[in-house]
Amino acid sequence: MTRIAVGGLWHETNTFATPPTTMEDFQVLRGDEIPHQLHGTRTPIGGFLDWASAAEVAVVPTVFAWALPSGIVGSDVYETLASQLVEEITRPRADGVLLDLHGAMVAGGCEDVEADLLHRLRRTIGSTPIGVVLDFHANTSQAFVNAVDVLSGYDTYPHVDVYDRGLEVGELVMRLLRNDVEPSRVIVQPPLMIPPQAQATALGAMSEVMRRAHDAERDPAIVNVVVAAGFPYADIPCAGCSVVVTSNGGPGLARGVADELAQTLWDARDQFRVAQVPPDEAVAQALRVADGPVILVDSADNVGGGAPGDGTVLLEALLRARAKGAVISIVDPNVVTAARQAGEGAVITADVGGKTDARHGRPVPVRGRVVRLQRSDFAYRGSYMTGRRVQAGWAALLDVDGVLLVVRERKVMPFDQEELKVLSLEPARCRIIVVKSAIAWRAAYGSIARAVIEVDTPGVCAANLRGLPYRHVRRPVVPLDEGVRWSVRE
Ligand SMILES: [Zn+2]
Repeated sequence: MTRIAVGGLWHETNTFATPPTTMEDFQVLRGDEIPHQLHGTRTPIGGFLDWASAAEVAVVPTVFAWALPSGIVGSDVYETLASQLVEEITRPRADGVLLDLHGAMVAGGCEDVEADLLHRLRRTIGSTPIGVVLDFHANTSQAFVNAVDVLSGYDTYPHVDVYDRGLEVGELVMRLLRNDVEPSRVIVQPPLMIPPQAQATALGAMSEVMRRAHDAERDPAIVNVVVAAGFPYADIPCAGCSVVVTSNGGPGLARGVADELAQTLWDARDQFRVAQVPPDEAVAQALRVADGPVILVDSADNVGGGAPGDGTVLLEALLRARAKGAVISIVDPNVVTAARQAGEGAVITADVGGKTDARHGRPVPVRGRVVRLQRSDFAYRGSYMTGRRVQAGWAALLDVDGVLLVVRERKVMPFDQEELKVLSLEPARCRIIVVKSAIAWRAAYGSIARAVIEVDTPGVCAANLRGLPYRHVRRPVVPLDEGVRWSVRE
């Protein structure tokens, strides 16, 4: 029976974020814990597992380590996880390997983790086929593309197709084992970084790029097309968007398709700009909307992009406006502890948020009643990673002059309405919901939002990339430099 090793190492690294990411930040599943926790979920590994049972191949679960997006991963952490993964994959002498990777992981001393990991693996498993699923925010590189056999990338942002990409790569590895396909991969990377706020795949210029990519995939000689919008908050040479096309037989056809799509991205560069409203004006606009919820997008403090989730600029604006019925979440474990000591019903005073660094506003003094105090763990029920459990830790719901302030022990990505429902808040009845997210919040609240206002807040995930202290990304690059010229024909 064919044996396929399954594992992964998943982290989106924001090199501007502090503090560094430690081993404690990673959740590590080993061996049977992988199917136990992920079988039946709409995740890439859930896809690998369902593909394997349908194809009647044996799965050898190895190691899957993942952490929420955050700062640079410690070099010792990466060394430990990578060597464990390589060892576990090498030991069982599998016929093929399926990996769930992000594509934008950066560790101390290693800027391109995915390429490094695959080259290490190659040294031990030789030509055994490796199939990889990447995030839409992958910063792909030639070194990575050289080391992989077949790959797929999420086609959606919000990422609601990740399970299908798992199925797809499983099938591609099977085709390789049957000698059914002879893949040639071509990567083209225009000098362009796109802020996540402009990457929604159902909207604007990016939707047109994805439509063309899917058109190209109709050609039976094209195995698949991966458009990676990239993660601009990783200050590394290969940060930015890229196109990887895999064709069957020879690279000629892949080259043509990759060139055309890269040129389409480049030609749309002026459309990847984001219009934002100052915080006080955004709150005033939201309060003028008769019916909620109005979504105030605090994308600079995107907890799904490595920001701390303790940004306070919008909290201050809501308190100044006495925005009754507005809901905002702030990460502050010390305040959660203080609320637990005081108990439900107590009135507490505390300086909330703004404690991770100086980029996300200052700690804000509040006086509020503890309305609710509980563990806030939940399982995704919506379209994002359905079935996956979230260890959200304790949360305290404070009423501060009518503003509902959710103080969290840990960062929680607002990609599913359960993040508020678990606290007995009904999102559809909230007047204003602040989301610390760029686009992925749409998977949770897109269908119930009465209005959406993009707010100009500060932070390590700011839409204006020119405000960030880049040092390592290749130059020139749009939007950091003026007058950049590029063409696929050069
Ligand atoms: Zn992503």
